[in-house]
Amino acid sequence: MTLAAPKTRKLHVVTHGCQMNVYDSARMADVLAPLGYAAVDSPEGADMVIMNTCHIRERAAEKVFSALGRLRDLKEAGGGTMMIAVTGCVAQAEGDVILKRAPYVDLVVGPQAYHRLPELIARVHRTQASVLDTDFPAEQKFDFLPEAAAHQGVIANLTIQEGCDKFCSFCVVPYTRGAEASRPAAAIIAEARRMVALGTREIALLGQNVNAYHGEGLDGRSWSLARLLSALAEIPELRRLRYTTSHPSDMTEELILAHRDNEKLMPFLHLPVQSGSDKILAAMNRKHKADDFRRIVARLRELRADMAFTSDFIVGHPGETDADFAATMALVRETGFALAYSFNYSPRPGTPAAGLPQVPAAVKDARLYELQAELRRQQDAFNAATVGLTTPVLFTGAGRHAGQQAGRTIYAQPINVESHASLTGTVRTVTVTHANPNSLLGNLEQESLAA
Ligand code: SAM
Ligand code: SF4
Repeated sequence: MTLAAPKTRKLHVVTHGCQMNVYDSARMADVLAPLGYAAVDSPEGADMVIMNTCHIRERAAEKVFSALGRLRDLKEAGGGTMMIAVTGCVAQAEGDVILKRAPYVDLVVGPQAYHRLPELIARVHRTQASVLDTDFPAEQKFDFLPEAAAHQGVIANLTIQEGCDKFCSFCVVPYTRGAEASRPAAAIIAEARRMVALGTREIALLGQNVNAYHGEGLDGRSWSLARLLSALAEIPELRRLRYTTSHPSDMTEELILAHRDNEKLMPFLHLPVQSGSDKILAAMNRKHKADDFRRIVARLRELRADMAFTSDFIVGHPGETDADFAATMALVRETGFALAYSFNYSPRPGTPAAGLPQVPAAVKDARLYELQAELRRQQDAFNAATVGLTTPVLFTGAGRHAGQQAGRTIYAQPINVESHASLTGTVRTVTVTHANPNSLLGNLEQESLAA
């Protein structure tokens, strides 16, 4: 059966989890646009609701089932015609469970099968039954996705690499996203050019293990991330580049030097270290030691004095003692982070650490509390230290209050300045005057006003 001629249908996409999911949600909307689906802000009255899910921690997965319960009520209230799709890593890991626990779900699609959405929707219509597609197809989904159509904004994400071969003891990504795969440079550069033509000025290259990038280059050889970044920097109107998430073992000297040599690459790096204890890093199968992380940070600071770092931490991985946690705290104090994400270890079914004796919940909670207090202190200190700095800001649109324009600093901090004229898409010099907990205030410099 073929679908009826496209008529306008309302599509509501809910995104949980990481930036890769945000990117995937936008691409799913692109895939469905030719079928007449147009994005709406609310699930009420939608013809299709996609829940793009995250499986990284237990609470993230549980959220899906409570949100699905609310969608079921909406579906029933609307006469049962609303199609509900669950995509993302919970779909991949728990597809059968979803269809059992929530039989009103019509479609369960893993992250590697988004390009098949039109065909899967047609199958639901044809069979009037739920459809599950969590295969890792032989074809690469990026070869089959249409060109990104919608403008993501002045600051946008671009996925260049997917999956992971590292198999950290705690992590579901290698099972839900599959083996590591890099997109060819030509496709990435073409996509970046299209984004820039639509008004994007800053691109964050995304991948679960983005610095392991080794896609086919324009010369037919394998390109590293540093090589790709330098090709992207040649796009004239593109002002800024970032990349995330990196693994310490893949921080090559070439990539470190790119932070000195590539003017468009921001002096800001998200480098998850997870723990400061070598014993726990080994138990996590991280393939790096705490000192490797220290060396990378020191080398980058030596090459670029204004370099700042963010990271991820897990507390309470099986086997973590008070001494191991103290090593994490020591590493945090000595590094000084601009911001960091920290989590209690959450056992994920099917991962190696899930079967080991667990650290009691109360111990994990106490450690996380101590770590987060220190990280919050560092974040506040970092933001406070930017007060008085005169620094470039990329403006993204109107601010929250009338007469304000909003932008991002080189460290991605949100900042507002007073200006009645639109500055969207421009980089202006701003002096930071005030640090609030989650944003900064600043004044435009004179030469910026004249620009
Ligand atoms: N690829 C990245 C890396 O190697 O660090 C991280 C990917 S993961 C999507 C993001 C973060 O979630 C991880 O850095 C880790 O801190 C956290 N995380 C992953 N699995 C977890 C688990 N089972 N329990 C708690 N936190 C977890
Ligand atoms: Fe997960 Fe990152 Fe480890 Fe890969 S490198 S298994 S994505 S934590």
